[in-house]
This record gives sequence, structure tokens and C-alpha cells, in this order.
Amino acid sequence: MSVSQLARSIVESPTLRLNEEARLLRERGEPVIHLGIGEPKNKAPLSAILSTASKLVTGDIKYSPTDGQPSLKKAIIRYTEEHYDRIVAPENIIISSGAKQSIYNLLYSILNPQDEVIILAPYWVSYPEMVRMVYGVPVVVRPEDGTFYPRLEDIEKAVGPYTRAIIVNNPNNPSGLVFPESFIAEMVDFCERRDIYLIMDDIYHKIVFDGKQAAPAYRFTKRDNEATKIIVINGVAKLYGMTGYRIGWAIAQRELVQIMTNVQAQTTSCTSLILQAGAEGALNGLQSVVEAVRLQIQNNRDVIMQELASFNGVRVTKPEGALYCLPDFRVYSNDSVGLSQFLLEKARVVTVPGKEFGVEGHLRLSYSGTVKDVTEGLARMRWALDPTSANEIYIGDRKLVRDWL
Ligand code: PMP
Repeated sequence: MSVSQLARSIVESPTLRLNEEARLLRERGEPVIHLGIGEPKNKAPLSAILSTASKLVTGDIKYSPTDGQPSLKKAIIRYTEEHYDRIVAPENIIISSGAKQSIYNLLYSILNPQDEVIILAPYWVSYPEMVRMVYGVPVVVRPEDGTFYPRLEDIEKAVGPYTRAIIVNNPNNPSGLVFPESFIAEMVDFCERRDIYLIMDDIYHKIVFDGKQAAPAYRFTKRDNEATKIIVINGVAKLYGMTGYRIGWAIAQRELVQIMTNVQAQTTSCTSLILQAGAEGALNGLQSVVEAVRLQIQNNRDVIMQELASFNGVRVTKPEGALYCLPDFRVYSNDSVGLSQFLLEKARVVTVPGKEFGVEGHLRLSYSGTVKDVTEGLARMRWALDPTSANEIYIGDRKLVRDWL
């Protein structure tokens, strides 16, 4: 088969692949526990459902403006003012089919071939691939001190004449860390001085625990919307548990939004009108939904920390936000891909290998499911890995005996 070299070089999304593998196993009746994918389990908020339905029943489902429905933009402007203390214009916003598409369009719009983008490890799996997909070069920066906190001094060393952007995902997928305010301030200052875009992927910014706050980058700039190098990415997927709606947005300078609009016009034309109506309903509806999601996730975080504490030798940094933790499983194996496969085969638990996020020897565990998923998933993992645990377990209605330790 003849395909392009570039397309051939793009790797499959490991989280989506695992999702599919889990779905097929479940279809065969296997009692799979999914600690892989990150999506809150709540139903879409009522205001989103009603707004979606009322748009649908008009039957008047046509193209929307390429950059998004004005009424949804209005809701995003309000949201941005409330949560970022920043007033932006409709021309600073472009709505896309998920934050993922917003990031892709953005990278397409700012990179020349061979331009570099700084990506901080551990990183979301899609960043390096998306940079490569527009002929850019991902430059991964790892904290030299072995933590998951990025440091300016490490970033400075990686920035060169071809650096166009730095992506900061705060709270972080996969580590669950919230970066200190001082780091965000440093990044804003650094990017402004070096004339580099600072791409803030804020998709988890309201999922924060124990009173923490993910500091908005805008807080640290004196520049106006047209002069700032800050670009904010956000969406309704994690905020309202509306992953299937596929609505995300980017906030940037007008000129850049105009370029991104041209890019979107030539690829998808626009985002679905029906789904934009749903996102508008969520943003304009009762916001207690967000707090309910946050509280449930925080509770799950506490449960997973408690469960992980009973593993001998597994170290984990306590997540302060997002839907994930990234424990170090090197006491059991240095090969996270093999370990993840082993856990799926033996214990029917889906985990994501740390290697996919740039940190071998770790596993990313999502605690966005139910408490039962978390407790049972971790119990199965302990049974499969820890020789000091009981060697019999029930998985579904099958009693399994461990015979490999
Ligand atoms: N950024 C990060 C860090 C994510 O984890 C995800 C989803 N997993 C996205 C962006 C994409 O969000 P959306 O579903 O809106 O495309």
C-alpha cells in the first residue's frame, strides 16, 4: 500500500488504542476495568442536553460560522472573564471539534517545517505527534532533578533559534501535578522575552484538589490580547464530562485566529452547530456540575492514593489535579509497555504505559471512573504483581489463582 512517509511515521494514539482493546474485550464478556481513559463519568449537564435538543428540533441544522457560533463565543468570553480575569473579543476566539483539533490547527498555523516546539515531560501523548504532523520538531525537556516539575533552567538550555512555542499543560496529564504559580510567571516572562508562543493547555484547569488553583498565565502579563504570546486552549470535555461533544477552543491574537480560521475552513468548514449549542448550554447553565465532578474526582484521587500505599515499593507523587496519577512501578518492571500488557492479560485492568508519556517504568492510572473501578482495579493489580498478596481472586464470577510469582 502506498502511503506518505509522514503518515506512516505517526504513531497510533495509545490511549485510544487501549480504549478500543478494552471495548472489544468487554464485548466478549470480559470483566475489564478501565484505568486508561480520562473522562469523568457524569452524564452531560441537563442544561447542555436541553440546549442540544432544542437546537436539534428546529431542524435548521446548517453550517455555522467557521470560527464558531457567536452565542457560544459570548459564553466563552464570559467564562474567560470569570475564570481568567481577562476580557477577550469574539475575534480572539476560535471554536473547534475538541481541544485536540484546536491544538492541531494552532500548530499548523504557527510552525514552518523544522521549527521546534518545547514539550515538557511527562507530556500528553498527542503533542509530539501533532508537532510532527505539521513537519515541526518536538523538543522534549525532562526535569534533570528526577521530579515531574519542569524547571526554567532545563527549558532555557533547549530553546534555540528555531523554537516557536512551548506547551504547558496545567494541571498536567499524565502526572496530575499543578505547577507552581512562580513557574507559570517565569514561563510568561521567558516567552515574552524570547518572543516564543506560550501554549497553555488548560483543559483540566478546574479539576484541582485540596484548594489548589492552576494559575492562569494571563495573570502574569501586562500585554494586551493582541500583543501577548499566551495562547489558551480549553474545552468542555473534562470540565463538564462532555468528551463526546468534541467542543474545544483557542484564545489568541486576532491575526492568528484569522489564520486558524482559514485552516479550519479548508479542513472541517466548522464545528457542528448542534454540539456547539450543547457546549453553550453547559457554559451558561448551573456551574455546580463542575464542582460535583471535581469533588468526585478528588475523592477518587484519595482512594487511589490509599490503594497505592499498600503496594510494596511503588512510589507516587500525589496528584493535585487532572484525572491521573503516574506511579513508578520499576520495583516490578522497567518495561512499562510489557507491564501494562501483562496487567491487561492477567488481571483485565487497562493502564497506560509511562513510556508513551516519556517516562519509562511508570504507569498512568486514571481515577476518573467509579470508586469501585479504582478499588477493584488496584486490588487486581496487587494480586497480579505482589507476591505478598493473597494468591486467589475473583474477577467477575471467575476465581483465578496466581501461578506466576
Ligand atoms: N489536552 C490534554 C492534555 C488532554 O488530556 C486532552 C484529552 N485527553 C485534550 C487536550 C483533548 O481534549 P478534547 O477532548 O477536547 O479534544
